[in-house]
Amino acid sequence: MHVAALVLAAGRGERLRQTLPKAFVLLAGKPMLLHTLAALAAVPEVDRVQPVVAARDLPRLDALAAELGGIPKIAPAVAGGVERQDSVRAGLAALPREISLVAVHDAARPCVSQESVSRVIAAAERSGAAILAMPVADTIKRVRDGRIVETPQRSECYAAQTPQVFRVEVLREALEKAHAEGRVGTDDAHAVEWLGVPVEVVEGDRRNLKVTRPEDIPIAERLLLARSKS
Ligand code: C5P
Repeated sequence: MHVAALVLAAGRGERLRQTLPKAFVLLAGKPMLLHTLAALAAVPEVDRVQPVVAARDLPRLDALAAELGGIPKIAPAVAGGVERQDSVRAGLAALPREISLVAVHDAARPCVSQESVSRVIAAAERSGAAILAMPVADTIKRVRDGRIVETPQRSECYAAQTPQVFRVEVLREALEKAHAEGRVGTDDAHAVEWLGVPVEVVEGDRRNLKVTRPEDIPIAERLLLARSKS
């Protein structure tokens, strides 16, 4: 199977409270997006890495041409959209026909390990749809208007990570259907679930954190430096 990784970097990242767009914030001296692109390009099963950035940030990425040139398998970046789902659709539209499996990954998860990406790709090759996720340590409450409305069984609760890997035609159909119905999911598996396609869960790794708030930056830097030394 031909595998592409879509790296989504078109979000605003307001919770990080930085002047630079989140994907371009420096981690250990290098823009976050470059760490993430390099992590995916290093996975042997990945044939192509497709960055998706906000249209206004395309020149910012062009300015990193020298560093990008050192990363194998990279395709020219495409512009994302308003919602994450729109960015994924833009990335899918840019993939060559021979790609049969797509791994959608947040640029905000630069510490992902090669090993966990390979495992989730292998699962999706077998089943058609698989995501990385972690069992939660906290008890999860569904809350509406400040009141608990439900407490799901903790043993059944997982926090979804990325990559989320799908057969290309399954993800395309799921996102087209969601778009036509005006539904917006916060991850890609959600749209595939709406299509009624089963999605396999592969246990991930706690180090695959999503850089979201200012306090996540030093943690991600420590993880990246530890990885570069191993
Ligand atoms: O906003 P959220 O935390 O869900 O974003 C997850 C990832 O999706 C980030 O890497 C962000 O850059 C990306 N994203 C995107 N296009 C959007 C919104 C988010 O590529 N319109």
